[in-house]
Amino acid sequence: MKFRSVKGESPAVSFREALFNGQAPDGSLYVPELLPKLSPGFVSSLREKTYQEIAFEMLSLFLDEIPSPDLKRIIEKSFTFPIPLVHLEDNLYLLELFHGPTLAFKDVGARFMANILSYFLQKDEREITILVATSGDTGSAVAHGFYNVPNINVYVLYPSGKISRLQEQQMTTLGGNIHAIEVEGTFDDCQRLVKQSLADVELVTAKNLTTANSINLGRLLPQCTYYAWAVAQLQNQFTQTEKPVVVVPSGNFGNLTAAVYAREMGIPIQRFIAAMNKNDVVGCYLWTGDFIPRTSIRTYSNAMDVGNPSNFARLQDVYHYQTDNMKSEIEPFSITDEKTLQEIQATYERSGIILDPHTSVGVYSARQMKSKWTINTPMVVASTAHAAKFLEVVKKAIGIEIPLPEVLRSSLKKEKKSTRISTKYEDWKNLLIK
Ligand SMILES: *Cc1c(COP(=O)(O)O)cnc(C)c1O
Repeated sequence: MKFRSVKGESPAVSFREALFNGQAPDGSLYVPELLPKLSPGFVSSLREKTYQEIAFEMLSLFLDEIPSPDLKRIIEKSFTFPIPLVHLEDNLYLLELFHGPTLAFKDVGARFMANILSYFLQKDEREITILVATSGDTGSAVAHGFYNVPNINVYVLYPSGKISRLQEQQMTTLGGNIHAIEVEGTFDDCQRLVKQSLADVELVTAKNLTTANSINLGRLLPQCTYYAWAVAQLQNQFTQTEKPVVVVPSGNFGNLTAAVYAREMGIPIQRFIAAMNKNDVVGCYLWTGDFIPRTSIRTYSNAMDVGNPSNFARLQDVYHYQTDNMKSEIEPFSITDEKTLQEIQATYERSGIILDPHTSVGVYSARQMKSKWTINTPMVVASTAHAAKFLEVVKKAIGIEIPLPEVLRSSLKKEKKSTRISTKYEDWKNLLIK
């Protein structure tokens, strides 16, 4: 399998090259040359498979350059925590993606990417530098996924003062090969600095740069697997045979792109709801046909505060740049902070389940669309983070202080180490190259 650039102005490359390059030399993103199809036999026996089996079947189609036993080992090392499907009410389910080390779905992709990079690096004695821009959760997931992985230095760029204390502690207290960079700007500034660095030939060559943002296929592709696992559990545990609607709380749209890929590969999914906070440029595109990036605004679901979502380019590519095509499969929904709080409260009162603000955006959207469509199709909401990561918001909604899981409690006790920089590219480059 080869991977081409979305713009098509750079040559197609192997997975290994796409992984190390991060993005294509023409400045656009890599995508699979063709989305592979799962065998009908596999799809019809999904309910009997384990997570590891599903992951191997799907990922081996993309990563045919890695010998099967090696890929199996990488999968075993990466997917070590449960991803349960939990029944919320009626036909509404939560796919709990937050049981990894930093309690957010990004652990899945980050761990896989770290393991696969380290697999390739073992073969040639090389040091590389990973850059990652974060609006909150990516940084901690990548920092933990890559911590102490030999021959890899990680720089995490985050917007100063715009992430929660817990998120900040999780990425600024590891030390070692993990460097936290506090940017005096927004997430979009962080993302711009990373993109500019990756396009800077001098820097890329001097430092062997790549990125661990969701633009990297090493993080994106493993995310396809949990949607198949959701369907397997729906069929197996809940004896549902109907294709579900999948609801994805979205910011940079990596998670939704992975879900769309899974469906294209043959996983039985009816359609998607893109659940957004007020950073809803993709929603506006689907409503009006115009894609107009804008500066992100702060919301309670801060990991989705993205004004120019990178993976939109991949979605356009899948749907051949036809707005109507995308619209026929993806229903956009965007909600305010007020509704986000209301939903945390309403769900808690109904079921005792405490949603984090991102998942709340998803559940609210699911409920609204369910009544609008008047359907009884099963709906699976990607539950993207543990509520304890967003204590203040949850407390505002239900007046309860959730006890912190041990992993979070221990990071709060550690000392923060970070370097502050301005949003100027030159400042950042000087720091990196010194
Ligand atoms: C990153 C993140 C999202 C958004 O995912 P994208 O792939 O960027 O759309 C949603 N919820 C949480 C908790 C996140 O960390």
